[in-house]
Amino acid sequence: MTENQNVVFVSRPGVNGEPKEENFRFEQCPYPVDIQKDEVLIKTLYLSTDPALRYFFEMNESTGVDYVGPWQIGETIEGFGGVGSVMKSLNPEFVEGDLVCSQYGWPWIEYFVRKPDKSFQKVDKSLVGGKISYCLSVLSLTGLTSYLGITEKGHIQPSHTLVISGAAGACGSLAGQFGCLKGCDRVIGICGSDEKCKYLTDELGFNGAINYKTQNIKDELCKHCPKGVDVYFDNVGGTISDQVIKQMNKDSHVILCGQISVYNKDVPYPPPIPEETQQCLQQNNITRERFLVLNYPEKFDESLKQIAEWLLSGKIKVKETISEGLVNAGPAFVSMMRGGNIGKQLIHVASQ
Ligand code: NDP
Repeated sequence: MTENQNVVFVSRPGVNGEPKEENFRFEQCPYPVDIQKDEVLIKTLYLSTDPALRYFFEMNESTGVDYVGPWQIGETIEGFGGVGSVMKSLNPEFVEGDLVCSQYGWPWIEYFVRKPDKSFQKVDKSLVGGKISYCLSVLSLTGLTSYLGITEKGHIQPSHTLVISGAAGACGSLAGQFGCLKGCDRVIGICGSDEKCKYLTDELGFNGAINYKTQNIKDELCKHCPKGVDVYFDNVGGTISDQVIKQMNKDSHVILCGQISVYNKDVPYPPPIPEETQQCLQQNNITRERFLVLNYPEKFDESLKQIAEWLLSGKIKVKETISEGLVNAGPAFVSMMRGGNIGKQLIHVASQ
C-alpha cells in the first residue's frame, strides 16, 4: 500500500512567542482510499511557506477575525500555496498528470483528495518555463505582491530612490527588480546578513545594501540615498521602518506591504507607530496606505503576464531556498521567519 505523510500542528508558540520546530510534527498517515465524483487525488510536489501563516494568527488560540479560524492542535497544517500533480480524477476538468496549483489552503500532506474550487488552477507550463516551483514564487501571490505593491502604491518616477526592507526575501528581492524595471534611479535594500547584501548588489543589481544587524541604518541610508528616499517598500515595520521614514522626502510614499518584525507580538495590524514617526509622516505629507495584494484580483492576469515576460526574457532573476522533504516543512517555516532564506522559501515534497 502507498504510504502517506503529513505535518501536524502540535503546540502553539504563544501570542508573544516565536514559532519553533516543536510546534510541528511530521507523521505517517493513511493514504486516501477513495475519491468521489468531481474530486481529484493530488500528490503534493512543492509547498510555499509564508509569513502570513503567523500574521493571520492561525498559530494563536484566536485569530481575532471571523473569516479565518485558528489551526487546531492535532490537525494537518493548512498552509497557503501548493503545487501538485493529479494522480487520479473523477472531475471532468482535470485528467491524470495535470499539474495544479493553488495559492491558499493547501494542506501539508503528500497525498490528498479535493473537489477543486476556483482557487485550483492548472499550471501553464509555458509560463513557468519548466520550473514548477515558480508558480509558488515569482508567478504567485508573492510576485503579484511585489509587482502590484510597486505599481499601485509606489508612484514611481525616473528620478526616484526606492528603499526596500526585507529586501533579500521573496517579495523584497522581486520588488527591487520591478522598481528598477519601472525606472527608479536608485534601489537600496535592507536585509539581515552580508551574504544577502552581496546577493542584492552583485546579482540583482541593487545600487546598495544595508545589513541592519551590523550597520548603522541612518548613516548608511544617508550615504546610499543622497537625494533622500522617495518610495519605501516596507516588509518589516518596527525600528528599521522608523529610521527609513525619517529619511523620506516630502510627498513620498510608503508601500505598507508587511510588518514581519511584529508578527510574533500580540499587537493589531498594522501595529501602532511611534509618535515621532507619525509626526514625520504628517509633516512631510508621506502616504502610508495599507497594501493587500488580494484587493487587486482584476489585475492578476495582466500583471502575471508582465512578470512572465520579464522572467522569460531574463530581465529578472529568481532565487528560491528549497528545503527537501515534508519532514523539513516545519523547520523551513521557522527558518524563514528567522531569516534563513534568500528569495522564496519553499519545501520540495515529492517529484512528479
Ligand atoms: P520573506 O521571504 O521576506 O521572508 C521573511 C524575511 O523577513 C526573513 O527572511 C527575514 O530576512 C525577515 N525578517 C524576519 N524577522 C525580521 C525582523 N524582526 N526584522 C526585519 N526583518 C525580519 O517573506 P515574504 O517575502 O513572503 O514576505 C515579506 C513580507 O511581505 C511579510 O511582511 C509578509 O507578511 C508580506 N506580505 C504581504 C502581502 C500583502 O498582500 N500585503 C502578501 C504577501 C506577503 P532578514 O534576514 O533580512 O531579517
